[in-house]
Amino acid sequence: MPVDAAELARIVADAGRVARAVRGDLERLRRLSKDDRSPVTVADFAVQGFVAHALLAVSPDIPIVGEERADALREAANRPMLDAVVEAIHHVEPDLSAEQVLDAIDRGCHDATAGTFYALDPIDGTKGFLRGGQFAVALALITRGEVIAGVLGCPVLDPAPDGGVSVSADAGSLFSAGRGAGAWQIAEQSPFSDGATRRRIRTAPPDHPGPVRICESVEAAHSDQHAAHRVADALGRGTAFVRVDSQCKYALVAADRADVYLRLPTRAGYEERIWDHAAGWLVATEAGAVVLDTVGRPLDFSRGITLAANRGILCCRSDLASPLLAALRIDRDPAHAH
Ligand code: AMP
Ligand code: MG
Repeated sequence: MPVDAAELARIVADAGRVARAVRGDLERLRRLSKDDRSPVTVADFAVQGFVAHALLAVSPDIPIVGEERADALREAANRPMLDAVVEAIHHVEPDLSAEQVLDAIDRGCHDATAGTFYALDPIDGTKGFLRGGQFAVALALITRGEVIAGVLGCPVLDPAPDGGVSVSADAGSLFSAGRGAGAWQIAEQSPFSDGATRRRIRTAPPDHPGPVRICESVEAAHSDQHAAHRVADALGRGTAFVRVDSQCKYALVAADRADVYLRLPTRAGYEERIWDHAAGWLVATEAGAVVLDTVGRPLDFSRGITLAANRGILCCRSDLASPLLAALRIDRDPAHAH
């Protein structure tokens, strides 16, 4: 059964409402447990449960590779947490029972060995979520190692084309792409009512004026920010850095709100997770951006749950790929400078 991309976008838009409901209730949810991270745990479970349940109606046979398992939520001691998860989902799906939610969450623990599966990051950028910064709901459909559909919900990213990375309290952004069908931004406030607006997004032409706008992680542990500055120096052009959490970075490049997303490994051996990149990769690629790893290899989504064949990420406007790869090479080995 072919999967309807508009249906996936609708699900992610609703999932964004679930996440935003939790985000608006941080203080109460912080008191749920001794763990400071309890609000994002609630949001992770609620979004995974909601999305997995909604996907049952769209494609009951396609497994889901998600981050969460419901085991802990089933323990009696965690009943307040489960209640908060169900309450969050009830913002968009009032009839779901706790048992249905638990079963739906457990649908999301496939191991990426099937020919076709969804990759779901229910709350990408958990640190941003807790800090009041950006986060994303990322859903991708992968078949035989190819990402064929991707939706990025950025529930608090200002939808205005010139909105930068500002956090918006009342409207978010939704980006969707299908393989060969382009990348689109959907007005999120009432995305699917009559007159809903859908705008094709493209990266800018090569002679874009001004400094090269580079986005990177807020978290220094997730991307080597010192190395990124050295690479920017080696590029030999004016640059401006902006730090933003989550796969919003891919959407910013896709929608020409940034020129580059750099993710430079902070330690040997770290393998990027497919759910951190699949949806963003497709949105950016379909908008005309180049997405490679830091040594210029295409991303390989056929290796299971990690990008085991890749190191870091370079996503950029197409004309910047060669100079940035050269700058990355110089940074790895200064002998390349001549
Ligand atoms: P960001 O919001 O760009 O900082 O990325 C958030 C993602 O970073 C999370 O979803 C994690 O899966 C991922 N992550 C965790 N540890 C690392 C690491 N050492 N290097 C790169 N990414 C990481
Ligand atoms: Mg993530």
